[in-house]
Amino acid sequence: MHAYIIGHSEYNRAAPLVRSPQGFEDRIRFYSTPDQVLPRVIGVSLLALSTRGVPIITPESELMVPNYEFFPIDSRDIDAVYALAHRRSLDFTGRNGRETITFPDSLDPQQVHIVGAQLPIPSSGIVQLCDNPSSPECSTGSHNCTGVFGTYKGYSLDFVSCRAPSEGERLVADLSSYGGQVGDITDEMQHLLDLLAKEPKETLFDGTFAKYWDELGQGNHAVFKYHTEIFKWCELRHAWTASNKFADRETLGKYIVSQYSEGSKDVLSILMSSPLIIPHLPQKYYIQAYALELLLSRKYDEFAEEYKKQPTSVRNIILEHPALKEAVNFIVRK
Ligand SMILES: [Zn+2]
Repeated sequence: MHAYIIGHSEYNRAAPLVRSPQGFEDRIRFYSTPDQVLPRVIGVSLLALSTRGVPIITPESELMVPNYEFFPIDSRDIDAVYALAHRRSLDFTGRNGRETITFPDSLDPQQVHIVGAQLPIPSSGIVQLCDNPSSPECSTGSHNCTGVFGTYKGYSLDFVSCRAPSEGERLVADLSSYGGQVGDITDEMQHLLDLLAKEPKETLFDGTFAKYWDELGQGNHAVFKYHTEIFKWCELRHAWTASNKFADRETLGKYIVSQYSEGSKDVLSILMSSPLIIPHLPQKYYIQAYALELLLSRKYDEFAEEYKKQPTSVRNIILEHPALKEAVNFIVRK
């Protein structure tokens, strides 16, 4: 059985090392080099290749490894992972121009073990490689613990996660240490970022970049949206389209505020803080969006404090929104 363990991880320098499971040489792979942060683009690229049966080169497995602790990743990374799971091919602009890689197999979703989902976080809040490293079993590599090694006893494991220490310098793995094998997707990503950077403001949402992006198709979109700049552009463009190029200020405001009911904290923050949007956003919606963002961020004390500071006119604007009204009743007037 095979599992891709996908999540954030780091380790405590002071904690003892743990022994890799028996047969680790062929069964345990870390995508990140020791002590380094795994850039998302490398993690997702290697995952894309490996899940399709393309042989990948990973750092050599070691007998003794730090006792990594795992944390959940954000929903955009999960989207990218699942988007890859359903792809059969990828078009990209590589070193030799426009190319397509066709994946031999599609990813078996059963093999995806995302920290916080398929790999649950126990009530202690921590998942480690091994949570009983000095026991006779674990110390010889026959893990029977409730850590990742014990939970996935007998599996071959690919860790798509970082390996940096929690304290001190955090080195980021660089693409060159992966011998060009992640070039395919990273080249396309770089090409997209270059196009975006070159796009004049006037044609930001309907110029060369936009045209290129639209032609990429939805499957590719989810893959590349895990890059923050591209994600931002997509969300701004949605708002731009929805509001007749920001000209319909009322619709723009409603669109932004509606992100609250979608639970899209990231999107709400991007939209309400964008210099492209702020000049077009009616004050009423700016106030509501600001207050809704505090709610989505669960900053309830700050919400109450801010509310109390406001003059009646602003309070009335806040109370106009049903969710905010409820929050005021619940948090401020409790
Ligand atoms: Zn163990």
